This record gives sequence, C-alpha cells and structure tokens, in this order.
Amino acid sequence: MKIALIGNPNCGKTTLFNKLTGSTAHVGNWPGVTVEKREGVYRGFKNKGGQKSEKIEIVDLPGIYSLSPYTPEEIVSRNFMIDERPDLVINIVDATNIERNLYLTTQVLEADVPVLIALNMMDEVKRAGDNIDISVLEAGLGVPVVPISALKGDGVDKLMQRAVSMERTREGSTVLLSALGDKIKPALEFYKAAEVSSPLFHAVKLLENDETELGRKGAKELLDSISNGEDLEAAIVDERYKYITAKLAVAKTKGKKHDMTKSDKIDKVLTHRVWALPIFAVILFAIFHVTFSEDFLYIGAWASLGGGLPGVADLGLSEGMQTFVGIFYDGAVFSPGVILFNMFDTLFSTIQEAIGGAITTEWFAGLFADGILGGLFAVLGFLPQILMLFMWFSILEDSGYMARVAFVLDRIFRRFGLSGRSFMPMIMGFGCSVPAMVNTRTLADENERIATIRVIPFFSCGAKLPILTAIAGGICSFFGVGNADLITYGMYALGVCAAVICVLLMRNTTMKGDIPPFIMELPAYHRPQFKNLMLHLWDKTKHFVKKAFTIIFASTVIIWLFSHLNWSWHYLSDEQMNDSILASIGKLIQPLFTPLGFGSQLNQYGWVFAVAALTGLIAKENVIATFGTLGACLIALGANVGGVTSGELLADEEGITSAIAMITATGISIPALISFIAFNMLTIPCFAACATAKAELRKGTFRWTLLFWIVASYVTSAAVYTMGAWWWTSFIWIAVVAVAVALIILNNKGKIKLPRRKGKGGQAA
Ligand code: GDP
Ligand code: MG
Repeated sequence: MKIALIGNPNCGKTTLFNKLTGSTAHVGNWPGVTVEKREGVYRGFKNKGGQKSEKIEIVDLPGIYSLSPYTPEEIVSRNFMIDERPDLVINIVDATNIERNLYLTTQVLEADVPVLIALNMMDEVKRAGDNIDISVLEAGLGVPVVPISALKGDGVDKLMQRAVSMERTREGSTVLLSALGDKIKPALEFYKAAEVSSPLFHAVKLLENDETELGRKGAKELLDSISNGEDLEAAIVDERYKYITAKLAVAKTKGKKHDMTKSDKIDKVLTHRVWALPIFAVILFAIFHVTFSEDFLYIGAWASLGGGLPGVADLGLSEGMQTFVGIFYDGAVFSPGVILFNMFDTLFSTIQEAIGGAITTEWFAGLFADGILGGLFAVLGFLPQILMLFMWFSILEDSGYMARVAFVLDRIFRRFGLSGRSFMPMIMGFGCSVPAMVNTRTLADENERIATIRVIPFFSCGAKLPILTAIAGGICSFFGVGNADLITYGMYALGVCAAVICVLLMRNTTMKGDIPPFIMELPAYHRPQFKNLMLHLWDKTKHFVKKAFTIIFASTVIIWLFSHLNWSWHYLSDEQMNDSILASIGKLIQPLFTPLGFGSQLNQYGWVFAVAALTGLIAKENVIATFGTLGACLIALGANVGGVTSGELLADEEGITSAIAMITATGISIPALISFIAFNMLTIPCFAACATAKAELRKGTFRWTLLFWIVASYVTSAAVYTMGAWWWTSFIWIAVVAVAVALIILNNKGKIKLPRRKGKGGQAA
C-alpha cells in the first residue's frame, strides 16, 4: 500500500512522516524545507493487536498551496498524486489555520483517489482553548477526518488504523458543484471521452485556465465556448473560499482567551520596520562572537587600555597547568566555541606527538604523524565550531525566526532582483552549499534561481571555515596585528558583498526576470525541539567525520606521497621537498596566482599555496589539510622555516600552526593571505557542490557557472591583494566598478546593448 502525504508548506508533513517511518528527515519551521518527495516504510502499529502486516510505503511530498503548479515543487506533488496514483492520500491540514489549508483540500478532493484528512497541530488548538467539531468537517468534505498532533504523536495510530481500513477506490468530488456545475459538466464529458484518469480534476483545472490542460488538443476551444469571456478562474477561487467559510470553517469555535497571540506580540518587535534588521545583525554578531571570539568578555580589550592582562605563559604555572588554563584563557577569556576547539586541539596534538615520537622509521613517522594525522586533525579540530554555528542556525530556523528575517529582507532583496524566498537557500549556504542549491527549487523564476545557485558558494560553508580561522589566526599570531574574529567576520561579509554585487550584475544583464510576489505564511513561533536539533547535529557530525576519513584522508596521503617522491620515484626527506613531484606541479601553476599575491613572488615553498587551492576543488577542508600535511613537514625542518622551532609551533593550535609554518616558509604578505582566503571562498566550490549545481541548473548553464566562479574569485582576490598592497590601486578598482555600473544603466535605458540570455521569464503568481 502506498500512502502520500500532501499539505501546505509547514503544516507538519515531515514531522508526521518521521513519526510514521522512524526516519530523521529535516523538519524546519520554514515553508519549503522539503523540496522533493521522500519515501519510507511505515514501521507498524504500537499495539500490534490484530493488524494485518501489510507493507505500507509512505511518501512525503513538498508542501504546496494549490495544485496549479508554478514552482518545481508544486509540479512534483501534483504529478505524484494524479499520475502515480497512490492508494491513499493523507491530506494534512494545519488546524491552527484551517481556512487556508482547506483551500488545497478542496482541490485534492477532485482527484479520483481515496483521501483521509489528518487534522494536525491539535495540541496548539487545545492550548489556545479553541475547539473544532470534526463531524462538521466530515460532513462538509465527505471524507474521514482524524485529529492528530504529529509532534506529540497523539492520534497517529488511530490515523493509520483508519487509513488501512479505508476503501481503496474513490471517485473525485467537488465543492464547486452547486455553483458551477453546469460549467464543469461539458468539460467533464470531454475528459471522460478522452479516458484520462481523474477526469473531474482535469476538468476543473481546465476551467482554472491551467497551462498544462490547455495544451491538450481541443481544450482551448472547449474552454472558450464554456467561459464565454467570463473569468472562470477567479470565480472558482471565490467559490472555493465561499464554501470553506460557509460549510467548513464554522467547525472551529474560538476559545475566550485571545485577541493577540504571543507570536503576534513577538512579531511586533522582531519584524519592526526600523528595528528588524539591526536586531538580526546583533543576533548574527552574537552567534559569531560566542562561536569564534578569543576575547569573549572583552576583558582583554578593556584591560589593554590599562596595560593588558598577562598571557598564560606569564602566569608562572607548571607546564601541565599552563596547558589546561591555556584552553580557557590567554590574555583574555575565550568564547565557548574557542574553548571547545582548544580542548580537541590539545587532545589531537598530544596524540600526534606521542605517535610521532613512538615511530622510529623516518618515512613512516612522516607519512603517519605528519601526513595523515597532521591533515586529519587540522580539519577535525574545527568540528566543534562548525557544529556550534550550525546549531545556532538550526535554532533560529526551527523557532520560526528565519522566516521573519526573509519576510523583512524581501523589501531589500527586491531592489537587487531577488525575492525574500532566496534568503533561505543563501543562509543554508553557510552550512553546506549542496542542500542550499537543492532548496532553490522553491524559486519560481528560472533566472532568479540560476543567479541564486551561482552565489550560494559565496556564503562561506562549514568546510571553508577552517580556511578562515586558521589563516586569520596565523596572521594575528605571526604578524602580531589585528583581531582574528574581525578578520573572520570580515571575510564572511566579503562573501556576502560579493554575492550581492554579483546578483545585482546578473539580474541586470544576462539573468533578467520578474520577481514573483513573495507569499509566505509566517509560521507561529515555537520552542525548538531538542531531539530534532540533536538529530540534525548528529547528521552533520557523521557527514563531516565520514568525509574526513575518506576524501580528506585519501587526499592527505596522496599529498604527502607526492611531496616526498621525485619524478624518478625516490623518497625525499622533508628538506628535499622542493624537488618533489608536487612541488613541480605547484610551480607550474604558481605563476597564475601572481596577480593575486600568492604566485611567483613567494619564496622557495610558495608553490604550497597553489597546491592547497587546487586540492580545495575536491573538498574545501583539503586546503587546510594540505597546510597541515605540508606544514608539519616544514615545521620538522625547524631552522629552515625562519627560525621557528617545531616545539614552539606545536604548542600552538593546529590549523593555525601550519598556517604560520606556511607564512614563515614562503614570506607571504598579509594582503596576499587575505586574497588567498577570498580566492578559496569564492572560486569553484567543492566537487559535491559542483555536481549539485550541474544537476539543478538547466543544460548549458553550468559551463557559464564554472566560468563565473573562476572570474568572480580571480577578480575579487586581485582587487583585495592589489588594494591591500598598494592603496592607490583602489582608485583603479573604483573606476572599474563605476564603468560597469554606467554600462548597466545605459543598457537598461536601451542606449547600448549588452548580451542577454533568452529564456522564459518568471510567472507571477
Ligand atoms: P512540513 O513543511 O509540512 O514538512 O512541516 P514540518 O514537519 O517541517 O513542520 C513544520 C513545523 O511545525 C515544525 O517546526 C514542527 O515542529 C511543527 N509541528 C509539526 N507538527 C506539529 C504538531 O502537531 N504540533 C505542534 N505544536 N507543532 C507541530
Ligand atoms: Mg517538510
């Protein structure tokens, strides 16, 4: 038996799906989280008493407001219901919002499939003191209705018992019969004669001016003869709502309690015209501060006014105590995220040193302790901070806050050619580009979607975080300047700015299109679900650890081998690394990066930056894994890397240590380092993201997307480097931007012609 779950966005489909199948699909308090269908098997009744053990497949469909498709997700749901004919459709109706939810129900009923209504969120209804009369709903709809709470699990067993005992066939019915019956009839005859399944459904859709139906032979003529110039589509919408108000919504009686709900009160503040954005900025800052700050309480900053606080080394502690205190404090108190990082890092360094010391064969100690462990630990050390960042975003999303931000941002987004809907994929990009790109399916305008997919990698993902943190840390400790947090935020901000500028450019030139109106329900606020959150984090951890022990592990081994073998396959010691295969490949591509600051101008080990950027194409963690592997070798060289001994460096944090080793060995400058981060952040994303982009983009667009990434990253990094190294070059860049803006303005006024891609524009909903 195959059961499909259908319903509005955010009505609790996925929550129910997870309850029924025991899976852990992503639930978000955000419309449009499920963008493709997902299948699972019902895991059975809790009280096994007497139920037949038939295999029941459950399909979770994307949330939709109607069955007239505009977006790809709506098409998925409609096709599944009409063409694949499940044995039963469970239509989930959010009981806190029945008027709007039942609008979809009136359309679902028109198909020839058995329908069961799951009236979800009954816990909320009861809490508000409201009451819903089930028998009124059942009489008005003509199908069974079962009240449930997917979240608490109430009524779910009853729902399934009802589901398995229902008739397996049903003929479509419509609430439009009394008002529009005479119009529907000829259309129904037409489809019956054509012997399609669900003729009633198709007939009504034809009257609704549905594009897919109009494509059928003879349909257009028929519609013209029926409608006689009358706007049937509007009449049908009107009639559906009339029926809902008169016959169905009366089932709900409000309790005495409310005028303004708690959510409304919170929204008054959080979506305030003026304060909404500053509040969001403060929340973002707080998140980054808790996760990355090395001066959490600003004690260091205050104290530095009066001469500064002592570092751990100056406290006169025993060596063990110093390591311990150093986890929490070094001249300032660390934030929770940094403390977690330090704990992992201390552990890893200890293991690495112990193993390195225990192995006596030189090449094996090198491969194992430097190559493999150096690379892996450099990456794994960042797991706590990645998880923490992810946790904050999950909490914001699940509470319902992110939906508000999208709503508020819509006003601003519109100015540069995006709708508020594209905010969510972009924010998801901070976690990982892959799901973010898939999520763009909620965007109706194809060109808006292409533009959004292209800039998603600019929202620095979890895997790029180590690049930011390690190099920012390296800059601060080595050059003794600045503030690592500030550099990290700054780089995030650079990514966002690059995204805005690129979208602006694209939407005004090659990727023009209408911005469809942004219709989104603001979900009620609720407390984030702890279990949900943990599942989420666990998923992320598994993914990250798996990647570390597969792709990154393999890459580190390969990198170590090729940096210790020459073209005649002889083993080279660390000192001879410059003659290795890797070095010669690196030196070959190195000149390409000269305009970006990390090319031929560097000293003898300069090729490591070219190699790191290259390995980043497989997985972005590789950039720092490469640093870890090669850095460990450079550190082992001791005096050869500028007088810093390996002992000194190993006492410091892992990723940062290797970054420092790179800096000392190559003599790279600060602007070049920043440009290196920018390049890795904006250039072609990892392999997985490329594959996703290719699958999501229309044919022929992917090539241009690759080119776009290369050009965008190259230009931005060159700008960063030249402006940082020679301030007066800023004027040149400003002039370039001014010319570009002028060209776009002239083009939009029709004075000149820039290339423009043809394609279907957006459909306004
Ligand atoms: P979908 O978009 O239809 O798949 O909806 P989700 O399953 O992602 O759920 C949307 C939000 O509603 C989530 O925050 C859920 O925790 C919440 N939710 C789902 N079912 C219930 C319920 O029965 N009661 C309450 N109070 N919240 C629910
Ligand atoms: Mg869902």
